[in-house]
Amino acid sequence: VGIPIALRVAMTSMPEMVALLNSLGGISATLIALAAFMAEPTGHTTGGMVELFLGALIGAVTFSGSIVAFGKLQGSFFNKPINFKGQHIFNIAFLGLTIAAGIYFAINADMTAFLVMLALALTLGVLIVIPIGGADMPVVVSMLNSYSGWAAAITGFAMNNLLLVIAGAMIGASGAILSYIMCKAMNRSFLNVIIGGMGGDDSASHENSTAKDKGVKEAAVEDMAYMLENAERVIIIPGYGMAVAQAQHAIKDTMEALQAKGVDVKFAIHPVAGRMPGHMNVLLAEADVPYDNIEAMEDINSTFPQADVAIVVGANDVVNPDANDDPSSPLYGMPILEAYKSKLVYVIKRSMRSGYAGVENSLFYRDNTYMVFGDAKNIAEKLAQNLK
Ligand code: NDP
Repeated sequence: VGIPIALRVAMTSMPEMVALLNSLGGISATLIALAAFMAEPTGHTTGGMVELFLGALIGAVTFSGSIVAFGKLQGSFFNKPINFKGQHIFNIAFLGLTIAAGIYFAINADMTAFLVMLALALTLGVLIVIPIGGADMPVVVSMLNSYSGWAAAITGFAMNNLLLVIAGAMIGASGAILSYIMCKAMNRSFLNVIIGGMGGDDSASHENSTAKDKGVKEAAVEDMAYMLENAERVIIIPGYGMAVAQAQHAIKDTMEALQAKGVDVKFAIHPVAGRMPGHMNVLLAEADVPYDNIEAMEDINSTFPQADVAIVVGANDVVNPDANDDPSSPLYGMPILEAYKSKLVYVIKRSMRSGYAGVENSLFYRDNTYMVFGDAKNIAEKLAQNLK
């Protein structure tokens, strides 16, 4: 079942698939713990019982949390962060209650306590993930991935199954390290993500009509081509929209057309551009863009002021200057690709709609920015043709 699903899944839906797989890992750990107890209700030491309830608890939290994450990523349910007063205290109290039910089960080998603990843990998983929104979802998915590993490892201890312990610990540790790396890349503390609630505002105020009133300037592909062939240094910033449009080959053609005219072209990659770690690198590699032309955020950021033109291809959150300058922005503090420091910026996207985090992007209103509206592949093909 897994292989055909994995072969068919679109690259852009990978996070949803990972969330679903995490949920399966979680529910497996829970069911194994339940089965182990039912097979031998009295044959476990207290330590073994604690391992069973911990495996089941973490597994159940992972299961329901991952289902909520799946819904959020797909945009089908729990889209907006849900926050209420005293939420964190409530969640901590809920966790306490869940553990208490687990301890009661471990001491008395009581099936009802186990089921109560399960029901509480499933609710807890939902409670933990509903306040998290927008740009923080990648961290949550890798955190749940880590949880599913720990659940398996603990269940492995309870079952005396070394393979499960080793495999679970590897997933647990790698998921935790990935969460840490992503938090660092987004300049957010893990705690900050968990108690998050950022993003989700995709209101109509971001649409084209009001945008014009705010002084958004539009450019034609021909104008962009003219400015590009007269540039010395060009930086291309790919984002999620390039993946959606599958524009990587047309963008590579644009790069080659510019290089043929002696223009220095580099790609700037943000660590969370797209919808999974390394998403942009994979697409550019597929289009055979040489590694020498691709630079990571920390290496290329200082060179934006020397760039004549920055082309933003379907990226949004990762170039939002508010992350640098507006303390009231939910993105404030997240390192971004500083495209706005280039002499001229062209943004290729279909509309004024916001990106994944659901926040408006002030880059689009800057004096040096021109919007080129349309599908990224379409625009990039026209651009390459014009340049040739
Ligand atoms: P964003 O999601 O911020 O923006 C993508 C933009 O692409 C949209 O604003 C959209 O605008 C545009 N777009 C969509 N389709 C097309 C198309 N066919 N042609 C042209 N443009 C298109 O993407 P970024 O890459 O800038 O940022 C990634 C975001 O995703 C971050 O917030 C990150 O936290 C989050 N994320 C990252 C993950 C990861 O691991 N990398 C995983 C999950 C989430 P329009 O509709 O107007 O065309």
